[in-house]
Amino acid sequence: MLLGAFISISKGYEHALKEALSIGANTMQFFTRNPRGSAAKALDAADIMKMKALIKETSFGPIVAHAPYTLNLASGKKEAREFSMRVLREDLERMEVVGALYIVLHPGSHVGAGVDRGIRKIASALKEFACGREKVMVLLETMSGSGSEVGYTFEQLYEIMDLTGNPDAFGVCFDTCHVLGAGYDIVESLDEVLFDFDKILGLSKLKVVHLNDSKFPLGSRKDRHASLGEGELGLDAIKRIITHPKLQDKPFLLETPGGIENYKKEIKMLRAVAEN
Ligand code: FE
Ligand code: FE
Ligand code: ZN
Repeated sequence: MLLGAFISISKGYEHALKEALSIGANTMQFFTRNPRGSAAKALDAADIMKMKALIKETSFGPIVAHAPYTLNLASGKKEAREFSMRVLREDLERMEVVGALYIVLHPGSHVGAGVDRGIRKIASALKEFACGREKVMVLLETMSGSGSEVGYTFEQLYEIMDLTGNPDAFGVCFDTCHVLGAGYDIVESLDEVLFDFDKILGLSKLKVVHLNDSKFPLGSRKDRHASLGEGELGLDAIKRIITHPKLQDKPFLLETPGGIENYKKEIKMLRAVAEN
């Protein structure tokens, strides 16, 4: 089973990988740069080489990058949209050097212009990254639909990818907290939700799972992560998710509160739960 968490790269990539190994992870996620979206640190080739050697040595699973939260491809403001595209362009190149397989992206917020306009704006921006020869794939994250977030239904994600003209160039990151908030009942009807996902998007599009419990209930349209078993999802549902045959080979990445020590506890607990 591929289990990992959000790891800080502030002390470098090799350090991050060692930290991931120290908590029992065999996959990891990190921000492409400061999550608030400031200038990116220059990449240290020696550090990256050391990380890659360690990945090989330990048969570590896929590494996943997450775009800063400040990007908004749906923005009506030209500068904000151009800033977002420039950062994404840069980060796709940088993450290719780092060796990340994916960049997870929040599709964007329409800020009052409406979901349809938001979808069209995001798609036209993503067109640039849809040639299909990219080494790093952009994954659109399923959102909870809080505020004016776009991408909280499978249909919206389908439409965004379809409108880029090359949907094959993109994938989806399935966030369990967000999906519950958006109104998909993965506690009582996980099979049906995955069936819908498959029908609308195709399960082959599902590349990564963000494994989070949720402080708020089904359909709340709120995005507040809880520690595993301490939210509305609960441990039974989480066990069904990590052991579901259709999700078997996916990287499960924790974004729960409590930092590295809590990740370590949760990964240990998940491995035990999956075996029983
Ligand atoms: Fe996210
Ligand atoms: Fe997430
Ligand atoms: Zn979230």
